[in-house]
Amino acid sequence: MTFAATILTLYPEMFPGPLRLSLAGRALEEQKWSIDTIQIRDFATDKHRSVDDTPAGGGAGMVLKADVLGRAVDHALSRQPNTPIFAMTPRGAPLMQERVRELAAGPGVTILCGRFEGFDERIFEAYPQIEQVSLGDIVLSGGEPAALALLDACIRLLPGVMGAPDSGTEESFEEGLLEYPHYTRPYEWGGRTIPEVLRSGDHAKIAAWRKARSEEDTRLRRPDLWERHRGVRDQSASGARHEKKD
Ligand code: SAH
Repeated sequence: MTFAATILTLYPEMFPGPLRLSLAGRALEEQKWSIDTIQIRDFATDKHRSVDDTPAGGGAGMVLKADVLGRAVDHALSRQPNTPIFAMTPRGAPLMQERVRELAAGPGVTILCGRFEGFDERIFEAYPQIEQVSLGDIVLSGGEPAALALLDACIRLLPGVMGAPDSGTEESFEEGLLEYPHYTRPYEWGGRTIPEVLRSGDHAKIAAWRKARSEEDTRLRRPDLWERHRGVRDQSASGARHEKKD
C-alpha cells in the first residue's frame, strides 16, 4: 500500500522539495509513498484570484479566506475521503511521535498549509475533522516547511524505508524519553575519549548506561517529558489510573 500525501498550498513547487533526496527520495521512487499537491488559488473565484483578505477587527497582515479554503478542502476530501486531514498552525497541538506512528500505519495524510496571518477560524468549525497541529513554539512564514517535516517523520517509519528496523524504535520519544547520546570513532578526539563502558563489550552494562543517560538527560533537558514519563511509570506500577491532584 502506498502512503498518499496530499498537500494544499499556495506554493506547490515546494513539494516534494527536500523529500526528493536521501531515504524519502528513494522511497518515493519505489512508490512506498506518493505526493499530490492542490493549489489553493485554483479555488478562488474573483477576477484577481484572491485567496486572502484583511483581518476582521483590523490589524496587520492578511487572512486566508474561508470560502476559498472550503472549496479546496472539499476537493481534497473528494480525492482522499478516508485520509486524516491536518492544518499546520502554531495554535495547534504540538505534533508528537506517537501520532506520527499512527499516521505512518494509515493510508496517508492531507495537509493544509497556511500563509500570512493564517486561516479564517470558521474553516475549523465547518470541518471539525481537521486536526490543528504545530511543529513547536516557533513561528514559520508558512505551513510548507512544517508539512515537509510531518511527511518526513511519517515516511521514515514506512515499512522498508529505514535500513535497520530497530533504529525506529530506540529513538527519542519512543519510550517517552530522549535517546541516550552517541559516539563513534575516533576513540580519542581533541583529548576527549568515548565513555569506557561503550567499549567494554558488556551488553547488559551498556544497556544500563544508556538507560541511565536517557533518563538523566530527559530529566535535565526536558522536565516536561520527564514528569509525564514518571506519571506513566507510576500509573503502570500501581496498576490503576488515579486522579492527579493539582
Ligand atoms: N498569525 C499566526 C502565525 C501565522 S504564520 C499566529 O501567530 O498564530 C503563517 C503560517 O505558517 C501559519 O498559518 C501556519 O500554516 C504556518 N506556521 C507557522 N508556525 C508554525 C508552527 N509552529 N507549526 C506549524 N505551522 C506553522
